[in-house]
Amino acid sequence: MADAPSSEHPLQGSCLCGGVRFEVTAPFRWANHCHCSRCRKHSGAFGETQGRVPRDGFRLLQGEELIRVYRPDDGRVKAFCSVCGSSLFGNEWPEGDEIGIRLGALDGDPGIRPQFHTFVASRAPWDELPDDGLPRYDEGAT
Ligand SMILES: [Zn+2]
Ligand SMILES: [Zn+2]
Repeated sequence: MADAPSSEHPLQGSCLCGGVRFEVTAPFRWANHCHCSRCRKHSGAFGETQGRVPRDGFRLLQGEELIRVYRPDDGRVKAFCSVCGSSLFGNEWPEGDEIGIRLGALDGDPGIRPQFHTFVASRAPWDELPDDGLPRYDEGAT
């Protein structure tokens, strides 16, 4: 596993079309796999895998005007590129003291690995949880 990102060694990230670019300059605080129905619909896959960094460890380099935000009635925001559809950010984007970043949007090793699974009680029928030894929560972890 790579060292955690820092201001000396920033980690780059981008959407599929490359219109949105950002960098991470602080270590991720935590990371998880979310299997909830909202993340599943948004991604078209099992759900989403995200990590959280402090706001001052995140910098949007370009493409702010391309980012659209969808706020489900009962869940965290989903921020995505309006050109290519890439899922990019969550949590309270663009507010909040932590940025939730989809790990799939990163261009390198985040220096952290997902630590638990959330919302496993509402996972898809075809979603076979991996035997990875990580804690599983029926709903959110907190
Ligand atoms: Zn894009
Ligand atoms: Zn979710």
